[in-house]
Amino acid sequence: MDYELTEQQDEIRKLAWQMAVGKIKPIRERYDAEEKFPWDVVKEIARADLYGVYLPEAYGGLGGGLLEQVLVIEQLSRACAGIALAFAATGLGALPIMLFGTPEQREAFIPDLAGAKKLAAFAITEPQAGSDATATKCLARLDGEHYALNGTKIFCSNGEVAETYIIFATTNPVRGARGISAFVVEKGTPGFSFGKKEIKMGIRSNPTYELVFNDCRIPKKNLLYKEGYGLFVAQTTFDFSRPGVAAQALGIAQGALDETLAYIRVRKQFGQAISSLQAIQHLMADCATSVEAARALLYTTAKAMDKAMKPAYDAAIAGRTIVFDEMGRLDVKRWTKESAMCKVYCSDVAMQVSTDCVQMCGGIGYMRDFPVEKYMRDAKITQIYEGTNQIQRNEIAAMMIKELASAAKAEAAA
Ligand SMILES: Cc1cc2nc3c(=O)[nH]c(=O)nc-3n(C[C@H](O)[C@H](O)[C@H](O)COP(=O)(O)OP(=O)(O)OC[C@H]3O[C@@H](n4cnc5c(N)ncnc54)[C@H](O)[C@@H]3O)c2cc1C
Repeated sequence: MDYELTEQQDEIRKLAWQMAVGKIKPIRERYDAEEKFPWDVVKEIARADLYGVYLPEAYGGLGGGLLEQVLVIEQLSRACAGIALAFAATGLGALPIMLFGTPEQREAFIPDLAGAKKLAAFAITEPQAGSDATATKCLARLDGEHYALNGTKIFCSNGEVAETYIIFATTNPVRGARGISAFVVEKGTPGFSFGKKEIKMGIRSNPTYELVFNDCRIPKKNLLYKEGYGLFVAQTTFDFSRPGVAAQALGIAQGALDETLAYIRVRKQFGQAISSLQAIQHLMADCATSVEAARALLYTTAKAMDKAMKPAYDAAIAGRTIVFDEMGRLDVKRWTKESAMCKVYCSDVAMQVSTDCVQMCGGIGYMRDFPVEKYMRDAKITQIYEGTNQIQRNEIAAMMIKELASAAKAEAAA
């Protein structure tokens, strides 16, 4: 399918795939088994100028947008979604700073992330606050020029390897959801330490950590946007980050299919290649159709989001304002429904396709020394993090109901 990528986007896609084949494929199995973080690959991605493809040139990026980011995540995940997460989770941490940061905050944090001098992470989940982020208990109390942060975050991707953390904490417990605020917290800040490291089913080369804050003093200037806007920061960030999870899922599905097609062409049973059996051919056809449909939805959405967001980014950089305020001024629509659709659809495709790929390969598909079972293990997380697929469906339906109500109102007024 021709998605009318620009010459530069096509170059980025090819470069990311070269990286996946040359640098990731040879080590993915061992890094997964040993839960080893891919510092060497991070450095290679940075050297190829891919780390900041989606960030503005003013901050050391390549000036692309969501589509460029999606292309890189997809190609890296085609080889290994765990290794790709080092790149994707930094994107998740960079986004709230780009969307809600002041020019000074953008200048302070984004250039290091664009060049992978530092990695980022995003921590909203707590033991009692998973799908329900309003149950956040981490507490940040203003004390002079600092906030004193106390509490625990769990399941933080890029945990320990990141330097720049986006942390959500309540600054006013009485106000519930409207009392939560977002902060940038730097590794090394006294009172910030790492707790349990999780042992996982998939994406094993990416460390998932508990973060512990014990009277951690965060400079007041590290508050993102305003007190009480934390959940809004998180939700808006997810509108722009969920296509990244979708890209990871799409890469997993494509990678599983690539490996499977190579095998079923040569595997013979009953005197013929198993790819000539109709039962296998139908699975091949369904997998390929789902993958292409997922890609079409994701690329179309990313292109539309980039087109809508470019004027807001340009205005905020030129006028030294906040991107989110420019979005309001320019009346940029919310992308909650479309980004949730991408995440749900691509991750469900990844789970289905990777499971079918194991089935097409038979017993060898189940073995650790054959590259297909890992895709199935890695696919599962894409249906869970950044909001489970049940939560995505809730959000899609909520937006549909809102749209129906406003259409009915407009019709009544006409
Ligand atoms: C490997 C890994 C990496 C992660 N990385 C990060 C990270 O970097 N940063 C971060 O902040 N978090 C991270 N998470 C956390 C992740 O986002 C949460 O696990 C996820 O949002 C679900 O929350 P929960 O696990 O508490 O599940 P729960 O909220 O306890 O949900 C359990 C089940 O109930 C369902 N459910 C709950 N509420 C509803 C509802 N209203 N309607 C329908 N169904 C519902 C869920 O869909 C799910 O099936 C990570 C998790 C994992 C496993």
